[in-house]
Parts: sequence; structure tokens; C-alpha cells
Amino acid sequence: MKKIIETFSPEETFAVGKTLAMEAEAGQVYTLIGDLGVGKTVLTQGMADGLGIEEPVNSPTFTIVQVYEEGRMPFYHFDVYRIGDVEEMDEIGYEDYFYGEGLCLIEWANLIEEILPDTYTQITIEKNLEKGFDYRLITIEEISR
Ligand code: ADP
Ligand code: MG
Repeated sequence: MKKIIETFSPEETFAVGKTLAMEAEAGQVYTLIGDLGVGKTVLTQGMADGLGIEEPVNSPTFTIVQVYEEGRMPFYHFDVYRIGDVEEMDEIGYEDYFYGEGLCLIEWANLIEEILPDTYTQITIEKNLEKGFDYRLITIEEISR
């Protein structure tokens, strides 16, 4: 299943993340792919809001994973951009998160493709400057392999 959504403002992208989180089930894994400045953090903040998380959510710059416990289920926010080797994922015990009871969101998941679970939901955000500066194309696809 593939769903394509166009947004024209950060608020709309936030709302996409919020809806996804409100519909999410415990144990789901989302991957989030897109260039710098495309809106990954905006969508992530929408997801956190959809789970009922009130504390500020930013990119986990100094840690691979940031855990938020205050929502209706735990939120595991990964940013693997700076990862050198997938072994670093073993060191943080990633399986407890990927196969846990919370909602996992993994930014730059393409860098750790070999350890992704058999099924996950892939979110891709792209710009298209011909359609305007604030235009974003969001593709949501169920991956099963
Ligand atoms: P990333 O985390 O992918 O590097 P950010 O979410 O931090 O990107 O930043 C996205 C930037 O793009 C923000 O400044 C936001 O206001 C702006 N923006 C403009 N239009 C949109 C849109 N349709 N969706 C998301 N962000 C948008
Ligand atoms: Mg970001």
C-alpha cells in the first residue's frame, strides 16, 4: 500500500505526522527519509504531538536514540545519520526498541537497511521547487520483505 500526500506548509506536514501517530499501533516502525531541511523534524514533532508528548522533540544530535515515555505509548526517535557502523546499533540494544511496545521512528534509516525489521512503514519527504518553496511530497509506503 502506497499513499501520497502533498503539503504546502509546515503545519500541514505536522498534521500528517500527528495523524500517523494517532493511528499507530504499539510496536510499529516508521522510517523517515529526506534531504536536510525537507521537514523530517516537523513531521517528527507532529508524531510526538499525536502521541500526546508535550516535551520538546528535536533531532537527537548526540545520541542515536531519544526515548519519550509520556505519551500514550513510548516514542523511540532514532537519528542514525552519524552512525559509523551498524555495530553501534547493537551497542545501544536497538532490538529492544525495534521489537518493543512503542512507536519507532528512524531518520536516515537507509544507512542501517540491513537491520531493519521485515515489515515497516517508509515515509519519504521530497521538495519540488517548481511547485513552490513550501511544497512537499510525502510518500508513505508499507514495506514487507
Ligand atoms: P529536516 O529535519 O528534514 O532537516 P526541518 O523539519 O528541520 O527539516 O526543517 C524544515 C523546514 O522547512 C522548516 O524551516 C519548515 O518551516 C520549512 N517548511 C516549509 N514548507 C514546509 C512543508 N510543507 N513541510 C515541512 N516543512 C516545511
Ligand atoms: Mg531534522
